[in-house]
Amino acid sequence: EKVTGTALVTGGNRGLGLEVCRQLSRRGMRVLLSARDIAEGAKATAALRSEGIEVTFEPLDVTSQESIEQLADRLGRQDLRLAALVNNAGISMKGFDEHVAEGTLAVNFFGAMHVTERLLPLMEEHGRIVMVSSGAGALEGLSPAIRQRIDPPPSREELISLLRTFVDDVRSGEYAQKGWPGSAYRVSKLGLNALTRLWAEELKPRHLLVNAVCPGWVKTRMGGPGAPRSVEEGADTLVWAATLPPGGPTGCFFRDRQPIPW
Ligand code: NDP
Repeated sequence: EKVTGTALVTGGNRGLGLEVCRQLSRRGMRVLLSARDIAEGAKATAALRSEGIEVTFEPLDVTSQESIEQLADRLGRQDLRLAALVNNAGISMKGFDEHVAEGTLAVNFFGAMHVTERLLPLMEEHGRIVMVSSGAGALEGLSPAIRQRIDPPPSREELISLLRTFVDDVRSGEYAQKGWPGSAYRVSKLGLNALTRLWAEELKPRHLLVNAVCPGWVKTRMGGPGAPRSVEEGADTLVWAATLPPGGPTGCFFRDRQPIPW
């Protein structure tokens, strides 16, 4: 079934992001494939073109406010409106210290937050925002101390300050005592999920659909060769959430097109 409008995908040069670009384009959307590395972005765009899939490359490093501004300006100058925004860019760093905590949050949480906030004015009514999350960000197994601060989601400001506390607690070595999980990746997706729930509510008047999706464990550079899912399978629910019809679900967490618990 054909879908119209323009979609922007972050981290579109490889892995799930590249496959989402491919599938959205096949469904009929005009796709803006964004990537932080210009050479990698151009290579991915050329690879899709050789398959007969035309996408437009847009440079975007989600951790750079300047890069986000430049992208928003370029889109604004073209009077472009987005029907879908897929916040896919993500990292999983080795080790666990304050630098890992900071670096992981910078991409997985703050990156998605800053990109979305800057592009919100460009979203069409009934547009869809997809947060590429992970089952690792679920509330299950979380200590009561942290859970009560993030479920139900607090305000944006409190959420940001909570996540800054995480970095401080990792730095001071007190993170376990304070009830934090020993994984920056997990905390980043926990935060992303809370943001998803918050924005889904806030953006209801604009009829925007904001959902988080877990792709499952997928064979990509991040997932590794031992993962059971292909990128095609992993991208399926992301594409589905990016093409939901007006009035579709919002404020949900999905895997395999089915709601899963926050
Ligand atoms: P990959 O490592 O293959 O791809 C990650 C993508 O994110 C790359 O395009 C990378 O760009 C990009 N990226 C990283 N940092 C930035 C940045 N600062 N600005 C812009 N782009 C950036 O991983 P996947 O495709 O597997 O992951 C995609 C998403 O899916 C992530 O959010 C991940 O957390 C999530 N996910 C993946 C799972 C899996 O099993 N694979 C499971 C659950 C969730 P570059 O090439 O320049 O590094």
